Amino acid sequence: MNVRCPNCQVVFKTSQEKTTLLNYAIQKGQKLVMLECPECFKVVPINPSALLAKVSQKDNDTKQQYDGIDCPICLDGIVSYVDDNKEVFWGCGECGMTWTSESEIEKDINS
Ligand SMILES: [Zn+2]
Ligand SMILES: [Zn+2]
Repeated sequence: MNVRCPNCQVVFKTSQEKTTLLNYAIQKGQKLVMLECPECFKVVPINPSALLAKVSQKDNDTKQQYDGIDCPICLDGIVSYVDDNKEVFWGCGECGMTWTSESEIEKDINS
């Protein structure tokens, strides 16, 4: 799968493992996956649904109550709920900020 790095703008091909991860994320309707760019070696936020033309439906999980809110850190990005089959967290595709619990997000929203 070809992905453009938002940091250095280089288009790179993901490994088989990462392609599987991206396909899984697309199926689940996620909007954010963190990948390491082979060019600049930064871990960058990738929007998997942007790799496809169609946007998948997401279900109404309580864990997704912060999905789609404005990022409290950079104020430009959107917070996305991420479940990559190994860990669960929330992340901002704009500034790359991640949260591992709802209370962490709430703390930043209220600060
Ligand atoms: Zn890069
Ligand atoms: Zn942000």
